[in-house]
Amino acid sequence: MAEPNAIRLEERESGTRRVRYVRDIDKIPNIPPEERARLKAVAKRYVFRVNDYYLGLIDWNDPNDPIKQLIIPREEELNDWGQLDASNEQAITVARGVQHKYAHTVLLLCNEVCGAYCRYCFRKRLFMDDNDEVTNDVSEGLRYIADHPEVTNVLLTGGDPLLMSTRRLVEIFEALRAIPHVRIIRIGTKMPAFDPWRILSDDKLREAFRTFSGPQKRIYLMAHFDHPRELTDVAAEGIDCCVRDGVICCNQCPMIKGVNDCPDVLSELFQKLSWIGCPPYYLFQGRPTAGNEPYEVPIVRGWRIFQEALRHGSGLARRARFVMSHETGKIEVLAVDEKKIYVRYHRAKDPNDRGRFMIYQRNDDAYWLDQLEPVEGTNTPRFKPSSPFEVNEGPE
Ligand code: SF4
Repeated sequence: MAEPNAIRLEERESGTRRVRYVRDIDKIPNIPPEERARLKAVAKRYVFRVNDYYLGLIDWNDPNDPIKQLIIPREEELNDWGQLDASNEQAITVARGVQHKYAHTVLLLCNEVCGAYCRYCFRKRLFMDDNDEVTNDVSEGLRYIADHPEVTNVLLTGGDPLLMSTRRLVEIFEALRAIPHVRIIRIGTKMPAFDPWRILSDDKLREAFRTFSGPQKRIYLMAHFDHPRELTDVAAEGIDCCVRDGVICCNQCPMIKGVNDCPDVLSELFQKLSWIGCPPYYLFQGRPTAGNEPYEVPIVRGWRIFQEALRHGSGLARRARFVMSHETGKIEVLAVDEKKIYVRYHRAKDPNDRGRFMIYQRNDDAYWLDQLEPVEGTNTPRFKPSSPFEVNEGPE
């Protein structure tokens, strides 16, 4: 396995490096030619891109290497399973590139490119040719936010906003800071994992962080580390830059089969994140997204792994909530016993559901709320199963 920390020493010291992108699977000689030929069909359907730094984290001697699982396509992605928009983001889209689900928070989908493409992405539809849900022109979104004084949080997402030019980001920061009721600007990004130099090498971006993240109105960087091996020295330096420039960092990631569905791995990830100043925030149950069958973990198994991982580390390493980003809200999985699954709305689309507690019959094969049967007499709703679940019970 390459030693990314060691070989990049000079680059780290100078704080500069340009990663080299790889878009053609044939350019990865570590994958046998016959496998590459098969994977091309997958990459044609769901976009593939990686860079030399991230490829360097893969241990090619391990066929089940977690970084490889995260970034290299798998044939099972072509299985007929799930939906492209599994939590119906279309229903909360109020204008092109603008989503408004919870009163205080608006999402601006301002970029349809990522530093690399996670195979389990729940927004992979955005990267498809005929998708028009994203727009670099955020003017309509800014007008919408200005007209909604209840909006105190704006999440820049996509795609990855840090793939935009710094000049464009600064324009967006300026425009948002001109709206008095916007307090928090969040940047949802996996660049600290894919390309830490995006932050380390860009003095103008760092200056913007210092300018637009102040004592009363912060910028938050919502990082996306999935595995402790992504937390290289240089990645930690990227987070350190943000912290020093006044940006609050926290981490959110899904539980991914073959990547972090192991208590020891998850615990190590959570602990190391807390050490570098980027403590865990959400651990997501994977949405039943088309193409994601090989990466999904059933709810009950995921909850058990999460509970086991929480047995270690300080309170800061154990702050994550295990949630499903369901069409109706963020639903936290609170507990599982021999017969039941206990959940609660952590965030609810319908204000009447805020904090609502619900009890479902335990189903160890279920991947999503829609597959669960309510316990009678508990005033728990039953959500309609989507057709992929009716024809296919899931990956295991
Ligand atoms: S960085 Fe986020 S949006 Fe981009 S491919 Fe990965 S999960 Fe999807």
